[in-house]
Amino acid sequence: MRRKIVAGNWKMNTTKVDGVELAKQVAEASAEVPAEVGLVVAPPFTHLCAVGKALAGSKVELSAQNCADHTSGAYTGEVSVDMIKAVGCGWTILGHSERREYYGETDEKLVEKTKLALAAGLGVILCVGEKLEQREAGKHFDVCAEQVKNVLYHFSAEDMKNIVIAYEPVWAIGTGKTATSEQAQEIHAFIRNVVAEKFGAEVAEDMSILYGGSCKPSNAKELFAQKDIDGGLIGGAALKASDFIEIAKSF
Ligand code: PEP
Repeated sequence: MRRKIVAGNWKMNTTKVDGVELAKQVAEASAEVPAEVGLVVAPPFTHLCAVGKALAGSKVELSAQNCADHTSGAYTGEVSVDMIKAVGCGWTILGHSERREYYGETDEKLVEKTKLALAAGLGVILCVGEKLEQREAGKHFDVCAEQVKNVLYHFSAEDMKNIVIAYEPVWAIGTGKTATSEQAQEIHAFIRNVVAEKFGAEVAEDMSILYGGSCKPSNAKELFAQKDIDGGLIGGAALKASDFIEIAKSF
């Protein structure tokens, strides 16, 4: 069944002390969030372990923001899926536009990373989304279809049960500009169709597709009311526990 999920991407923010404090506040307030809404937080690698401990006993799940495209060995600075799993993560975010843009993350790499993550028993939150100039040129459908196909068409219907898509228009990330609920719904429905073309209607119906891009308490309700929007991947607003929880209560 399709899950409602609100996931917080903390990016390169918070020290370990701040992160643990934020996690404690989120864990405590998570009791106010309806049972059917899943909560996930993705802190920096350095405090996954400590944040995991702070979340213990709550419904909040732990995620990494990225993983290596190799299992182990001479890959200085990288963190493997087994390491991530071993500190208590249930998820990893992959393909965030910041990684695509600043760290040369390609769809080919994302196929490898997704394979490793799934094999390690991690769920994957795969980010897709167009840049401003692509939207202005009317290419947003093509861009999103290509990103979804290039990665997810390498997987099976069974694998898709452990994958969530996050549609994040790059022009809306951290800019304060949010896609309108109509714009977001239109492309979420389109992405669901792209999934259906390969895997069939049932898999597509069960797939959670999250919206990301300046989602905040004031706009979450309208976005989450859309038929094909199953929650959010939240950046800036995830750094304040009360805002993050307010968003999760917006269904
Ligand atoms: C993100 O980077 O995943 C994101 C959605 O950021 P923000 O909410 O700050 O736009």
